[in-house]
Amino acid sequence: MEKLLEMNGKPCDCGRPHRFSAKVISGSGVLSQLPQAVKALSGTKAYIFFDPNTYEAAGKQACRLLQEAGIEYVGYCLPWSNPEPDETSVGAAMMHFDYGCDIVIGVGSGVVNDIGKLLSAYTKLPYIIVATAPSMDGYASATSSMNRDGLKISLPSKAADVIIGDSRVLSRAPLDMMRSGLGDMLAKYVSICEWRISHLINGEYYCEEVASLIRHAVKRCVDNVQALLRRDEQAALAVFEGLVIGGVAMNYAGASRPASGVEHYISHVLDMRGVEFGTPIASHGTQCAIGTLTAVELYEKLKTLIPNKEKALAYVKSFDYQAWAGQLREFLGKGAEAMISLEEKEKKYDPESHARRLEKIIGNWDGILSIIHQELPDMQELKKLMETAQMPMKLCHIGLCDSQMSMILKATKDIRDKYVWSRLAWDLGILDEMTETAK
Ligand SMILES: [Zn+2]
Ligand SMILES: [Zn+2]
Repeated sequence: MEKLLEMNGKPCDCGRPHRFSAKVISGSGVLSQLPQAVKALSGTKAYIFFDPNTYEAAGKQACRLLQEAGIEYVGYCLPWSNPEPDETSVGAAMMHFDYGCDIVIGVGSGVVNDIGKLLSAYTKLPYIIVATAPSMDGYASATSSMNRDGLKISLPSKAADVIIGDSRVLSRAPLDMMRSGLGDMLAKYVSICEWRISHLINGEYYCEEVASLIRHAVKRCVDNVQALLRRDEQAALAVFEGLVIGGVAMNYAGASRPASGVEHYISHVLDMRGVEFGTPIASHGTQCAIGTLTAVELYEKLKTLIPNKEKALAYVKSFDYQAWAGQLREFLGKGAEAMISLEEKEKKYDPESHARRLEKIIGNWDGILSIIHQELPDMQELKKLMETAQMPMKLCHIGLCDSQMSMILKATKDIRDKYVWSRLAWDLGILDEMTETAK
């Protein structure tokens, strides 16, 4: 965390300035610093909101701290234990907002934080998030993942000005939320691997400093899995800080690359289907963890492959985009339309650019294999780790059917123009055969 903050505003070998403006206060007992943080942001009257669970976890204490410090506040408890990230929740939080307030405080994790970031953006007021669980990597991001008009979208919002992670609170979070946070950290193996592959093939911007911060953060989480399950404060802090580092790293890179790859797209597809068809949705990190294991297995299979230029060119020649768009519509419903219109601009399937990428892939195949080898964990070891943490590992563990993974993987290449496993497999002409056996 210190190294991360040291990089802030300094020149870097990658040529890009790395900037991040939020203050991160993490450690044991740091919730007591909330009143100071409010005053530092010139807050005199706070709008503080939570849900029934996060009120118990830290909201009650936060309100007491404000009161003791003589800071006026208006508190609002969302009436749902698991609020949905939709119009109803945002509307409820907005309608209880008091216009005399000059600072917003969210107490919670995923959905509460997404709503808080929106409120802060709408009211143009500073925002503090008191994290109650090390469960996902959205603490430091400036977007909110919402369901609007029944569609899953990422809305621009505002990153928190202060992120407070008190390990006494975090370590008492439900274990499933900690597992979810761990899953979101495991995803970073794949994201860094794919970032480097795209750097090699497409010349995409890459920063080794940022990547190495992420690698360290992941290692710290993986080394402390047993302790995390015992609710050890340091282990909970490792996951929380890792997730914040992931978020800051995205700010530093100006892209989601350091923290999200094909596994996040797998989770995104599951969310889209859930919103459209009511299929089960597991937590973000849980879905990412299943995606990570799937991706690691598929990359492992790539290691045994010798690219075949003729086969790849023939595959792309016979690829029928209109037929594929029809399949996407059927699989994702309304959400597919945005992806299809994006393709009109991005032209990801253009045969000429494919041919250029293919040359690069074949010419750099050894380099690609060594990136996979360096960045990804051994699949059996990853499985063992996830078993130890008692994490869901397959779609059937979260109420879905394993056979859907094939179509989910194929749909990941259409989410936006980001070079991930499914794009590489399509370029190589092996996407269909490789996804057939994916579970
Ligand atoms: Zn850099
Ligand atoms: Zn994530």
